[in-house]
Amino acid sequence: MSNPHRVLVVEDELVLAGMVVNYLNRAGFVARAVHTGSEAITLVREWAPDVVVLDLGLPGLDGIEVCRRLRGFSDCYVIMLTARADEEDTLMGLAVGADDYMTKPFSVRELVARVQTQLRRPRSVPTEARRAFGSLVVDPGAREVLLGEAVIELTPTEFDVLETLSAQPDRAFTRRQLIDAIWGEHWVGDDHLVDVHVGNLRKKLGDAASAPRFVTTVRGHGYRMGAG
Ligand code: CA
Repeated sequence: MSNPHRVLVVEDELVLAGMVVNYLNRAGFVARAVHTGSEAITLVREWAPDVVVLDLGLPGLDGIEVCRRLRGFSDCYVIMLTARADEEDTLMGLAVGADDYMTKPFSVRELVARVQTQLRRPRSVPTEARRAFGSLVVDPGAREVLLGEAVIELTPTEFDVLETLSAQPDRAFTRRQLIDAIWGEHWVGDDHLVDVHVGNLRKKLGDAASAPRFVTTVRGHGYRMGAG
């Protein structure tokens, strides 16, 4: 790889952090580890990693708070590591802008595959016409979303959900089709992830699931663009 991607591993279990860094480096990434949330924020600013692997259970500043702060200035991909028992933490992590998650104990090999999946996602599409849905404008070229005059700050995953739906506004997508379009067909995980990202997206668009203006639930199927 001529221009290797940078991956920051934030994990307070030193042995695990070292093992993940080794695997990532062997897979052709440039990986570094830090063991606290405040170090993570400093290093994301200074080093600008492409992907952050973020343990939620950190002493001091926890992973949720780290993710929230990162999203104030970075659109790197965030993969959270959570304990299996803490489903609430997982949902919270996705709500503050994480893109994907893995539950511990996990296979380091699979984590490397997840990092590769995130990086295969297109960060920008060729210049394409803006798509308007009432007061909502999706601009795929600029990866920008406007609601009226206001720019809506979306995470990369929220943008990709909206971009995929708005590209084919007459189509009702299943959750799996959205996953295939956004994460790739090799992504293995819970389809429920889509619901969480759609929920976050709706919140930012001021859209209510009961009376949607922009993203509509198609009962027993999935989602489509447009009013309900
Ligand atoms: Ca931990």
